[in-house]
Amino acid sequence: MTDQPLWFTEEFDAGGSAFSVKIRERLHNEQTEYQHIEIYATEKFGNLMVIDGCYMLTARENFIYHEMMSHPALFMHPSPENVVIIGGGDCGTLREVLKHGRVTHALQVEIDERVTRLAEEFFPELCVSNHDPRAGFLFGDGIAWMKEAAPGSEDIVIVDSTDPVGPAVGLFTEAFYRDCHNVLGEHGILVQQSESPIYNMDIINSMHKEMRAAGFADVQTLFFPQPCYPSGWWSATMAGKYSLEGRFRAADAADKSFATRYYNAAIHTAALTPPEFFKQALE
Ligand code: SAM
Repeated sequence: MTDQPLWFTEEFDAGGSAFSVKIRERLHNEQTEYQHIEIYATEKFGNLMVIDGCYMLTARENFIYHEMMSHPALFMHPSPENVVIIGGGDCGTLREVLKHGRVTHALQVEIDERVTRLAEEFFPELCVSNHDPRAGFLFGDGIAWMKEAAPGSEDIVIVDSTDPVGPAVGLFTEAFYRDCHNVLGEHGILVQQSESPIYNMDIINSMHKEMRAAGFADVQTLFFPQPCYPSGWWSATMAGKYSLEGRFRAADAADKSFATRYYNAAIHTAALTPPEFFKQALE
């Protein structure tokens, strides 16, 4: 045993970079049917969940990601009642969605039940709304669920998935977006985490193309920081069955009845403003 500090490091080869946090100990280590999950206690970031060697979330800064995956889309729909979250097993996005009084049902379709059980144990603060009567849980493949779901039955689809590897590959395809389009009602909005604008323009470009090819009339990317993900800068891409312009319920967002730690009406507008390089890089 040395007295050297212990670090968890995710190397991101494609970007020639790595991000490390100082850890106290590994609390859990498990190979599930789908992936390798580890939980660490860190020095300064609270508990950390890692899947297949990649940061999923830390207790300290997950609020940015979870708020930006949910509130922008919900405040752009005139009446978001039915919401489905694909992935999102840590329940943080579900907690944010259920803050909206207009939501009558929010279903989380997560392929790996172990992610949710470990979140309940190690991130109880993310699971505080799991017993809300409007919350539903289904453990299975989101791609298969979307194929079978009733047409027009959802107002918002949130794809809170891992990177496009393993079981998440099919979540980044035109075929899946077509099924999302079919499941969404008239005013429907799809929002999906879309990786780093610095490192993954190829993925973002392909998402824009495939969402449009699947029938969505408007596709926009929103930007936000996420310190533990590669490059520290992240994005989500939103697709509307009709134009997303002018749909922000800004007065409702400014007067929201619940607390957030990152999202507010001004951040909403700023996050949807494309940076100059992005306008050039978008094919
Ligand atoms: N915030 C994270 C990020 O961007 O790195 C994502 C966190 S969330 C824990 C991602 C979840 O997507 C994982 O729990 C994984 O099991 C789930 N997932 C991956 N593919 C899936 C699929 N086809 N259907 C449903 N859930 C899926």
